Amino acid sequence: MKISLTKLFVQDGKSEKYEIPLTSETFSIGGQDYRVIEKHPVILGLTHEGNRVITITGSADLTMEIPCARCLTPVATPFQLEFDLQIDLNLSEEEREEKEEDSSFVEGDELDVEELVRNELIVQWPIRVLCKDDCKGICSRCGANLNIQTCDCDTTGLDPRMAAIKDIFSKFKEV
Ligand SMILES: [Zn+2]
Ligand SMILES: [Zn+2]
Repeated sequence: MKISLTKLFVQDGKSEKYEIPLTSETFSIGGQDYRVIEKHPVILGLTHEGNRVITITGSADLTMEIPCARCLTPVATPFQLEFDLQIDLNLSEEEREEKEEDSSFVEGDELDVEELVRNELIVQWPIRVLCKDDCKGICSRCGANLNIQTCDCDTTGLDPRMAAIKDIFSKFKEV
């Protein structure tokens, strides 16, 4: 969904409120598509500060499905996004890039709400998501999900680094 900014430019200090339903079923983050499993309309307040400078404030609540970093089980991950930024529409796309102002969500005089949300998702994207803190992951030999089943694979001596980690954990338990 796109919002035309032209009617804001009519007057300095002109302000508009919007409630925009999200249409995207997925968002592409780092080249990967993630499913949106719950969403609410995006609340936006746009203010023309004058001379084609726009302040964007607002919020968006949505839940994304992110695979567990260890076992790949999809995990419902809620996001509460807050927007508070300013864009100068006098600048060309190249000039904005030079200023490292991320405004890929503006094309011409239009604000792309989905792209604005995607940008903020990238900022808040967790480094990793786990289905539970003590997720056992998947067996590196047979691929079994070790939270659900055990397997008979001999994984000792598989990787010296893994073995070192194992040692640390067993020492931990003894204490
Ligand atoms: Zn997991
Ligand atoms: Zn196995």
